[in-house]
Amino acid sequence: MTLLRITPPAPVQLALERLTSAGYSAYIVGGCVRDALRGEIPHDWDCTTSARPEQAAACFPDYHVIETGLKHGTITVVIDRMPIEITTYRIDGSYADHRRPDSVTFTDRLEDDLARRDFTVNAMAYHLARGLIDCWHGADDLKAGRISCVGDPAARFEEDGLRILRAMRFASVLGFAIAPATADAVHEKKELLHHISAERIQTELTKLLCGRDAERVLTEFSDVLFTVLPELAPMLGFDQHNPHHDYDVWIHTLKTVSAVPPEPVLRWAALLHDSGKPHIFTQDERGGHFYRHAEVSVQIAQKVLKALKTDRKTYDRVLLLTEMHDMVWNGTEKQMKRTVRRIGADAVRELLLLHRGDVSAQAEIHRAERTAEADRLIGMLDELVSAAVPMTLRDLAVTGGDLLRIGFPQGREIGRCLNALLDRVTDGSLPNESDALLKAAKEIRKEHENGAF
Ligand code: ATP
Ligand code: MG
Repeated sequence: MTLLRITPPAPVQLALERLTSAGYSAYIVGGCVRDALRGEIPHDWDCTTSARPEQAAACFPDYHVIETGLKHGTITVVIDRMPIEITTYRIDGSYADHRRPDSVTFTDRLEDDLARRDFTVNAMAYHLARGLIDCWHGADDLKAGRISCVGDPAARFEEDGLRILRAMRFASVLGFAIAPATADAVHEKKELLHHISAERIQTELTKLLCGRDAERVLTEFSDVLFTVLPELAPMLGFDQHNPHHDYDVWIHTLKTVSAVPPEPVLRWAALLHDSGKPHIFTQDERGGHFYRHAEVSVQIAQKVLKALKTDRKTYDRVLLLTEMHDMVWNGTEKQMKRTVRRIGADAVRELLLLHRGDVSAQAEIHRAERTAEADRLIGMLDELVSAAVPMTLRDLAVTGGDLLRIGFPQGREIGRCLNALLDRVTDGSLPNESDALLKAAKEIRKEHENGAF
């Protein structure tokens, strides 16, 4: 690799220069060096320095300094609204609990700090004048597309079990292989993940799932995934005995994962959508069946997402998509509008993207035709949305407040009337204009008073 010059943004340069002119050494380090060398723009720039945290803080009297993790040597300086983490060179003590060092010791040697980092590609530092410091040959691994532990992989995983998932995450996100010795230790040490908190596991798994090589990594390391999510293990090798499917449930699942856009909700829904299948399999002369598997998948999704302490919004949406993933689309605008009305246009778009991924991972003979139909449905939805065709109560040209003003009482009657108006607007018998709607509302109210509504 021709080593590019790295030019950090001005606030980062200022931070490095302040530390250097105060007599300390200072480097950018970790993910930002890795990403800059790959030609990507780093999303954050971490600095490492020989200055102790209070010494580092004293270099920025005119800036906002946050004591992020003083015990671990980290402060955050905000320069031109950019938060920059500055961490003192440190050596991590022993790891009794397999997740956090019992103590950290500050050191004057950058090399010691690089040695505590997880992977060679994450253990490079860069100095504005001296250039790249790469004691662990991270640049070679970067060039070869390889994730290798710094030092002995098994020992490094013993210290912090999360590194097992981090290796898989970086392999997936960067499209890298995991080097043989590191890969062996990933399999061998997977039980250490039982020591790791649900939140940290869920963060790494979500990044892994959204990586470009999630399918490959989860094929190779499915045993590791099943260690943290045992509920998914029955999918492995489960033959579907069904002409609609070329693949077993697990391979189908992973192909679906990689066929949906790399967004957390869609990737989690793809991972979980068929998880109930192995539990309700039946077989007759026509082949294998999975009647009502979505219901069981929902139960498994609930368990998995709760155990991982997934945020409420993601939880709700993944459950909805899992529950509805096998709905039969009949191709009509009527069904599309009705579905939008029920769950909203954004959820329908995700449902269709999941559906597209799902059918693209089914039998080859139907694939082209079914994905084309899914694309047509997505196009139909986009057109309805961009033409502002009213599909939900929010799209109506009148609101509940308007109905109150024309004499409706507070309460359920308002919702019922709005729904009745939307029915007429959707079937084309009423224009979506406030005058016409209010007139119709008054009639509905009159009918109601006469007992007809
Ligand atoms: P990204 O921010 O893109 O996810 P990153 O490499 O910056 O990637 P972070 O989790 O932000 O990852 O960590 C910053 C750096 O800290 C890493 O590059 C690595 O050098 C070190 N690091 C982070 N977590 C660990 C760990 N569990 N064990 C050892 N070193 C770690
Ligand atoms: Mg980072």
